[in-house]
Amino acid sequence: MLRVGINGFGTIGKRVADAVRAQPDMTVAGVAKRTPDYEAEIARDRGYSLFVAGEDTRPFTSADIDVAGRVCHLVDESDVVVDATPGGVGASNRSLYEEFETPAVFQGGEDASVAPVSFNARANYDEAVGADSVRVVSCNTTGLSRLLAPIDDRFGIEKVRATLVRRGGDPSQTGRGPINDTLPDPVSIPSHHGPDIQTVFPDLDIDTMGMKVPATLMHIHAVNLTLETTPTAGAVRNLLAAENRLLLVPERLGIDGAGKLKEFTRDAGRPRGDIWENCIWAESITVEPTTGGRGDCYLFQAIHQEADVVPESIDAIRAITGIAGKETSIRRTNDALGVGSGLLGIDAKSDVSTHDAASDD
Ligand code: NAD
Repeated sequence: MLRVGINGFGTIGKRVADAVRAQPDMTVAGVAKRTPDYEAEIARDRGYSLFVAGEDTRPFTSADIDVAGRVCHLVDESDVVVDATPGGVGASNRSLYEEFETPAVFQGGEDASVAPVSFNARANYDEAVGADSVRVVSCNTTGLSRLLAPIDDRFGIEKVRATLVRRGGDPSQTGRGPINDTLPDPVSIPSHHGPDIQTVFPDLDIDTMGMKVPATLMHIHAVNLTLETTPTAGAVRNLLAAENRLLLVPERLGIDGAGKLKEFTRDAGRPRGDIWENCIWAESITVEPTTGGRGDCYLFQAIHQEADVVPESIDAIRAITGIAGKETSIRRTNDALGVGSGLLGIDAKSDVSTHDAASDD
């Protein structure tokens, strides 16, 4: 069993810890936290050994939270560390991981220079094999990478134009509100997402525009792809429906936005209401022929920012430690967590066929 330490037990870290615990080939060596807040109590109640990120353990002991040691002890005891500290803090932890020669998985809030590889399991798993560290790209970049990889493989992408309507903060980020505005963010174009996608797809021609809205549930992407070929919309739907981390949301369910998506997954009993998959509205997938045999493809997708990087973090652990190859790792992660197109009993493929039975290739 691979011993995985998790440094930072907030929105992403606590989900990664639970996902590691669910895997058949990994165990949680412990988690590190800086403050003895409610998430420290959750770590304790879940039975994770708690290490302190910092010098002073007294605030934890006076809050009646047992401490197993300091973060350096956790790094020493772990075969691999997932750094889920706030954006920018991971880079300052890099020397600690190097000191103990512990491979590290960083998160998307870090600059791409934090690790030699920016990672998405579907797009470039093999590039991370043997690396001593890797950066799982951000929630938005993960969502775009999963979408673009199969479309590029099958139909060829000439150009991507994507508008990312981003949630203003996570439900627990009270410090970001209250908010009542709709912002171009950033006003300059492209937003940082386009260059970030190019850390995974160096040759991709992509322009992104970012917005922020007063919402906490999910991001919504409006995507326009100029394809090198002109597939039917049904062919694009079938291709995407076959991908195990893409969920096609059927029209018949009447799910018209992020609110109903989240409600649906909570009703279905997903832990924390998490949606690990991209949610693509099936009827939004449209292809218009354009010049030179090319096609313009349009679609809307929703990304659950707190959850989609979690399965990718698990695969990143296997990639850098070399304990499994791409297909095995993705299958193992999906099986252990319950990721897949069968989510909520939605039979995406059968719904696709009612949309466009004659259009496949
Ligand atoms: P968070 O603020 O929810 O959690 C961070 C955790 O790290 C907290 O437990 C905090 O106590 C702890 N911490 C703070 N300073 C620390 C330090 N110096 N050493 C160790 N621990 C420390 O942050 P988050 O939202 O989970 O983000 C973590 C990383 O994941 C960031 O790089 C972020 O950009 C990325 N990410 C976040 C989201 C999201 O929507 N929340 C999505 C994808 C990726």
